[in-house]
Amino acid sequence: MQFKDLQKQYELLKDEIDRSVQSVCSVAHFISGPEVGKLEAQLAEYVGVKHCITCANGTDALTLALKAWGLGAGDAVFVPDFTFFSSGECPATEGCTCIFVDVDPKTYNMDPARLEEAVEAVVREGSLRPRAVVAVDLFGQPAEYDRIRAVCDKYDLLLLEDGAQGFGGSINGKMACSFGDISTTSFFPAKPLGCYGDGGAVFTDNDEWAALLRSIAVHGKSGDDKYNNIRLGLNSRLDTIQAAILLVKFKAFRDHEVSDINKVAVLYGDAFAACGLDKKIILPVVLDNYYSSWAQYTIQLPKGCDRSAVQKGLKEAGIPSMVYYMKPMHRQGAFEGSVSAKADCPVTESICPRVLSLPLHPYMTVDQVSEVVGALSKLI
Ligand SMILES: *Cc1c(COP(=O)(O)O)cnc(C)c1O
Repeated sequence: MQFKDLQKQYELLKDEIDRSVQSVCSVAHFISGPEVGKLEAQLAEYVGVKHCITCANGTDALTLALKAWGLGAGDAVFVPDFTFFSSGECPATEGCTCIFVDVDPKTYNMDPARLEEAVEAVVREGSLRPRAVVAVDLFGQPAEYDRIRAVCDKYDLLLLEDGAQGFGGSINGKMACSFGDISTTSFFPAKPLGCYGDGGAVFTDNDEWAALLRSIAVHGKSGDDKYNNIRLGLNSRLDTIQAAILLVKFKAFRDHEVSDINKVAVLYGDAFAACGLDKKIILPVVLDNYYSSWAQYTIQLPKGCDRSAVQKGLKEAGIPSMVYYMKPMHRQGAFEGSVSAKADCPVTESICPRVLSLPLHPYMTVDQVSEVVGALSKLI
C-alpha cells in the first residue's frame, strides 16, 4: 500500500500529462512559458483572489511574502508551534523573531486565544514589534480565520496564510489561500495539489504587493526587464513543465479528487467506529462549516501506547505510516538558545509523541481503508 498513491494517479492521467509535457518540450519555452500564466489565472479564479504568482516552492512562497512586506530584525512573527519547519524557518531567515503559539487540541491549528496572549506578552515586554501572524492550514483544514483575523485587526498585524497543506479546503465556501493578506501554497508532490518536483504559489488581492512579489521572484526586476534590478530578490519561478503537469492535475483535483478524498476520510471514520477503535484513539475533527482538503489523516494514539511498535506492526502488514510532527517548533535545534525556544505550548508537547498519520489519497479504496483499520485494531 502507498501512503499517497501518485503512481495510480499518474496511470489515470498519463495520456493528458504526457501530451502536456511533450508540448512544452517541443516548443522549448521552459521558463515562464504560456502554461505558467494560464495556470496562475486558473488558480486565482478557483481561490477567488485577484493575483496568483507561482514560484519555485512553498518555502520560497513564504519568503516572497515576508520580503514584500519588508519584515526583518526587531519584528515579532507569530507562528504555530505544531507545523512544518518552513512556517518558522522563513521568518527567522529574514531576521524576524518567531514567537511560537500553542495549537487547538482538536484541530491542531493555531489557538486564537493563545495567539492574543502571545501578542500581548510581546507588547508588554516591549523589545520587539508585533508585525505578522503565519497561520497554517494544518493537515488540510483551514485555521480559524474569523478569530485570527480579529486579533490581527486589533493589534494591526499582517496575516500570512501558509496554505501549503490547505489548498482546496474552505470555510463557508470561501477557499483556502484567500484568508491571508497574502497566502501561500506548495505543489510539492505529496501536498493536496502536487506537481512532479518542487513548486509553489503566492496569492493576494493587493496590486502593489503582487507587483512586488513578481519582482522579488525574479531577481528584483523592474517591470518586465529582468536585467534592470531595482531591489534584491530570488530566482524563484515555477518551471513551465511543472505548470503543464499542474494544468492537467488541477482539473482532476477540482473535478473529483477533493471530494473523493473527503469520502475516504468518512470511510476511515466509519471503519474506526465500526470496530470501536474510535473510543481508544482520537480521530481528526473538522469544524462545522469547514471543509478540509485532507493533506493528512492524523490520529492520536492512546496515552502510553508505543507509537514505534504500532508503526512497526503496520509496516509488517505492508502499511506505511508517518509522524507529522515529531517535535514542537520551539524545540527544533535551529532555535536553541534563542527567544523563540522559550515558548510555553503544552498542547503541542502532549500531541507530538502521540500523533500518527495514516495512508490517505483520493484513489484509496474501501478495502484499503478496512485493511489499515483492521491492522491498527490488532496493534492498539
Ligand atoms: C510543505 C510545507 C511548506 C513548504 O513547502 P515546500 O514546497 O516543501 O517548500 C511550508 N509550510 C507547510 C505547512 C508545509 O507543509
